[in-house]
Amino acid sequence: MYCTVSLPGIFLLKTSPPKEKSESPLKSVDWTDFRDHIATADREGRRQWIYPRKVKGRYYRWRTWFSWLLLLVMFAGPFVTIRGNPLLLMNFPERKFVVLGQIFWPQDMIIFAMAVLVFFIGVVVFTAVFGRIWCGWACPQTVMMEMVFRKLEYAIEGDAPSQRELNRAPWSSQKIFKKVLKHGLFFALSFLVGNVLLSYIIGWQALYQIVVDPPARHVAGLAFMIGFSLLFYGIFARFREQACTFICPYGRFQSVLLDENSIVVAYDYKRGEKRGVLRRLQKFGERRFAGLGDCVACQQCVAVCPTGIDIRNGTQMECVHCTACMDACDAVMTKVGHPAGLIRYASLNGIERGEHLQFTPRLAGYCLVLTALAALLAVMLFTRSDVEATVLRAPGSLFQQMPDGHFSNLYTLRVVNKTSRELPVELRLENPAGSLRVMGGSLTLPPQKLLENSLLVELDAGAMRSGTTPLVIGVYTGGRKLQTLKTAFVGPRN
Ligand code: SF4
Ligand code: SF4
Repeated sequence: MYCTVSLPGIFLLKTSPPKEKSESPLKSVDWTDFRDHIATADREGRRQWIYPRKVKGRYYRWRTWFSWLLLLVMFAGPFVTIRGNPLLLMNFPERKFVVLGQIFWPQDMIIFAMAVLVFFIGVVVFTAVFGRIWCGWACPQTVMMEMVFRKLEYAIEGDAPSQRELNRAPWSSQKIFKKVLKHGLFFALSFLVGNVLLSYIIGWQALYQIVVDPPARHVAGLAFMIGFSLLFYGIFARFREQACTFICPYGRFQSVLLDENSIVVAYDYKRGEKRGVLRRLQKFGERRFAGLGDCVACQQCVAVCPTGIDIRNGTQMECVHCTACMDACDAVMTKVGHPAGLIRYASLNGIERGEHLQFTPRLAGYCLVLTALAALLAVMLFTRSDVEATVLRAPGSLFQQMPDGHFSNLYTLRVVNKTSRELPVELRLENPAGSLRVMGGSLTLPPQKLLENSLLVELDAGAMRSGTTPLVIGVYTGGRKLQTLKTAFVGPRN
């Protein structure tokens, strides 16, 4: 298991919440310590609040730009339409789902299940190659927490030492002002995020109605609006990194998804150990002569970590790959005149043997399964019909003999129009010969609606078998066949 990789023969520091001071390089690692409890809880299980220091560096800059792009997509998403349909809509109450403008109904559940399967296998392949790059760069929790709420907190309360000091200080007008301002803005942002989430569920038009209509008309909608806002406020103001370490299952799966070739945020222990504080005017060669590596035990990588871990202990479940430690360490390395990249994106084999990413048999297997499933999904999507019809014999009805000697059966027809346009639909009895009548005349399906109607099928006694006769009905629009329905016609036994 990669996440518990041992670093034989080297000395490591004990993992602990970020400390301001440098630590002695002579402490040997207490393996039972950081493996037996998480950095955000003490031995009694009480929460240890993390005060990550502000980060500066190229990765943080790139992540900031990328986050702005993601936030733009997230906030604009509900208003973007493709062929009149939203970009993404997960309307669970009405069981209607829209992905990239394509409407999916409960009848498309197999396609949906296949898409979910492809998604999960894609995640497995991606994680096996790139580790948890998703968590650090694109996960909405990390993006919102680190790029929105954390930045706001820094702007109001200052960097980590000022925040710690403010929290320890007795209540004063300045403290009350800062706390009220921070939590007020946090709640306002949470309200906004909650509303965006709601608009991905019910659509922005329905959300707008909730806002402008009298509250009594949308009690459930308002309850969700407030519930989501409180939930996000709780997550970003209090729960924070605990969502990644306690709730999200993805981090827990990484021990089975990662292997020695996966790219992760890794500390180059071969270069960094044996760590030791940098003495004044100490030269690089002198450090090497003294048996010391490049790590100057400054603890900056721990101080910036939003989950409070020490990446020098190896890959850990709590690491969300936010790259903050990479930036912090690069800054330190540049300052002391060592090459950057002591903490970098690398695989275990890359660090131990200088190997590049390898296409292992396990990865080949994942890719094969993923390709097969993706191809199947593509076939299912391209052959998906615009309408989905079912025909069942009307409950409790028997066959009837007409005055002219024909036999008739009554059916219930249910048709879903999956498109966003009106569809005229025609039903033809294809086998055996007979007549088919839609009650109420022609059938025109309103867009994105389910229509229920009755059908009367009449057969001549000569075309019928004893007991039940199989029927084949074609569903057409504009002369194009959309679907073939099969059912049974019940008649008298010989
Ligand atoms: S160890 Fe580094 S990459 Fe991982 S969460 Fe902490 S700061 Fe981010
Ligand atoms: S920031 Fe770099 S030099 Fe400083 S303790 Fe971490 S790994 Fe060592």
